[in-house]
Amino acid sequence: MPTKKPTAPASAPIHDVVVIGSGPAGMSAALYAARANLDTKVVVGPQLGGQVSITYEIDNYLGLYEDLSGEQLTERMVAHVQKFGAELVYDEVTAVDFGGPVKVVKLYGGELRARAVVVSAGASATKLGVPGEDALGGRGVSYCATCDGAFFKGHDVLVVGGGDSAMEEALFLTRFARSVRIVHRRDAFRAGPQLQERVMANPKIGVLWNTVIESIEGDPEVERVRVRNVVTDETEVLDATGVFVFIGHYPNSNVFRGVLDMDEHGYLQIDDRMRTSVPGVFACGEIADPTWKQISTSVGQGAMAGMVVETYLGVLESMPEPA
Ligand code: NAP
Repeated sequence: MPTKKPTAPASAPIHDVVVIGSGPAGMSAALYAARANLDTKVVVGPQLGGQVSITYEIDNYLGLYEDLSGEQLTERMVAHVQKFGAELVYDEVTAVDFGGPVKVVKLYGGELRARAVVVSAGASATKLGVPGEDALGGRGVSYCATCDGAFFKGHDVLVVGGGDSAMEEALFLTRFARSVRIVHRRDAFRAGPQLQERVMANPKIGVLWNTVIESIEGDPEVERVRVRNVVTDETEVLDATGVFVFIGHYPNSNVFRGVLDMDEHGYLQIDDRMRTSVPGVFACGEIADPTWKQISTSVGQGAMAGMVVETYLGVLESMPEPA
């Protein structure tokens, strides 16, 4: 249930809603809130547009079937929310205080206060956790083919993972690399059949089944990778200058730990109206979605969050001021 309409000193602006995160979920929530004439701030976070901004090509978002990059979609999302008056704040959240009726979102460069908050901070790439991965990060180890692929023109690279991301990124890397070997821990991909077919038909791509990476080596950049076949237990050293890791994501929910209820993997727990465990705080997108993780599902969740915020603030508005 909403709490009573909050009051604060006149000098401290209290916005209607602060949206945390600027990916498809957050931008959709911001669009609905701003179109409802709510004073809406969007804390951009570390990456404007979130994960979609580094997606090479989008072809599964209904109606957008012609060449459209994640960067272009991000530009359109920004223009769209700004057209209706949402304001982007280029900063990151360092802490939150959701204890009172006025929610406080602390940033590196100050703080924002609001009557409602939408948490849509998304997810980040999971790491392998093998020796050499961190030390060679940005020196051949990458989690984004779109960002780094062009540096590997004529190189031999490895892609780790067996899901849609690994397939898409492997296909993208064939534009630059001499060879792309997919290292997968099982003997079957979990990716969709169409992507699998394209991968298997591509002459530049090979697959190392039942194989895991043991270590990544090189100085100062990646030169070789030690792999192990999990069936035979044999190890092998592969010459490769790039290792692109696509083994899933984890929710960016650390800053909300102890504040909002979450599951054992850190995904925020929400009900069917996007409500978190704290009244006035809503969540949408990958930070609260261990399953679907699509642009379309995030946009849908964001729209719901935006509409629910409108209703929530409308209810607050109709409450009498505290005596
Ligand atoms: P994912 O579907 O969770 O796949 C992760 C892959 O990494 C799996 O093959 C998994 O192996 C492997 N893996 C996990 N942990 C590992 C470890 N420690 N060491 C080695 N391998 C490991 O992740 P995703 O590919 O990023 O996709 C996430 C979601 O986004 C999915 O729902 C996907 O459909 C969606 N997505 C869709 C598209 C599209 O539709 N075009 C594109 C990208 C992503 P196992 O198979 O053995 O578990």
